[in-house]
Amino acid sequence: MFNALKPQAADKILALMGLFRADPRADKVDLGVGVYKDAEGRTPVMRAIKAAEKQLWEAETTKTYTALAGEPAFHAAMAELVLGKGYPAERLSALQTVGGTGACRMGFELARLANPGCTVWFSDPTWPNHLSILDFMKLPRKGYRYFDSAARVVDFEAMMEDLQGVTAGDVVLLHGCCHNPTGANLTLEQWAAVADLLEAKGALPMIDLAYQGFGDGLDADAAGTRLVASRLPEVMIAASCSKNFGIYRERTGCLMVLSDAAAKETTQGTLAYLNRQTYSFAPDHGARLVTMVLTDPALRAEWEAELEEVRTGMLGLRQQLADELRQLSNSDRFDFLAQHRGMFSRLGATPEQVETMRSENAIYMVGDSRLNIAGLNAKTVPILARAIIAAGV
Ligand code: PMP
Repeated sequence: MFNALKPQAADKILALMGLFRADPRADKVDLGVGVYKDAEGRTPVMRAIKAAEKQLWEAETTKTYTALAGEPAFHAAMAELVLGKGYPAERLSALQTVGGTGACRMGFELARLANPGCTVWFSDPTWPNHLSILDFMKLPRKGYRYFDSAARVVDFEAMMEDLQGVTAGDVVLLHGCCHNPTGANLTLEQWAAVADLLEAKGALPMIDLAYQGFGDGLDADAAGTRLVASRLPEVMIAASCSKNFGIYRERTGCLMVLSDAAAKETTQGTLAYLNRQTYSFAPDHGARLVTMVLTDPALRAEWEAELEEVRTGMLGLRQQLADELRQLSNSDRFDFLAQHRGMFSRLGATPEQVETMRSENAIYMVGDSRLNIAGLNAKTVPILARAIIAAGV
């Protein structure tokens, strides 16, 4: 019966990784896949994670099952990280998931169980896997305009105009910070306007928070999420620990759901049920490390310090690239690179220009001209800047 299977479209970003690996040129630059890299091109295990792993290895006496929805200590630590101290625990349900992807998937599943007719609204563009999961689930979806590709900033007017079409019970997917793929983010005033609109419409915000700490800092990056959470009666948050804890392969994420206090027990039970029907218990190792790092003062301080090095390093690269391009282009038209936040910026190059940079300069970026700033270092920034100008971007 497997002869009946149809080939699935390959993930474009993973395919690009394969091309990069096969390229024999020594000076090749990988700006494709969304993984943090240091100046030497490594994705290190963070110091606090390494220390927590050592402690865990020494102290752990059992590998028996934990709780179906994940450990309450993990939920509490994540809720405090994302929503801040004093979050409304009496309204919060939470689920330990298989990465941020698992949190997104479970969020969509929960919304569908609660409102089978819901439409999911997504920023156009968004992380392509959002769309592929929604299509796989056959959930109706609609895009809202988000990015002004000429100015490379959020097209807020267009976004609000499109969101006028949202109806009660629809899910509106928002990127909490460090928008993937554009790098352009809402201001706090814009978050407030979105919250007002969604409240008036009776829509359910779902915030994908995959890069907390990569933009303006741990609290600043959660500010939009916190604002929405403080205003709306019901909110879903899909948080990933892959990037900010550097534990990509451990597959650690958390879906948090704010509801009416009266609905909490059933919501929490439904979340556990979703884990049970899908894979039973979520992986424990990464979540346990995250809990240790967040709750042990010494580990936490070490983690925050290293995360800050990562964040400021990326900001420095952004500034260097913008400065370099200012000089070479004799204009300020690339200044947006310094204003964007997170690992990604959408450069605004055509697919042909992206291809030219790959063939001529061995610079690999995604076809929509999303580049991973963390793939750069002080030496490759000028090379990229020259290639961008030479390609006529
Ligand atoms: N959301 C967004 C916007 C992302 O960019 C990513 C990672 N590429 C994720 C969610 C999921 O990350 P993971 O499943 O690796 O935790």
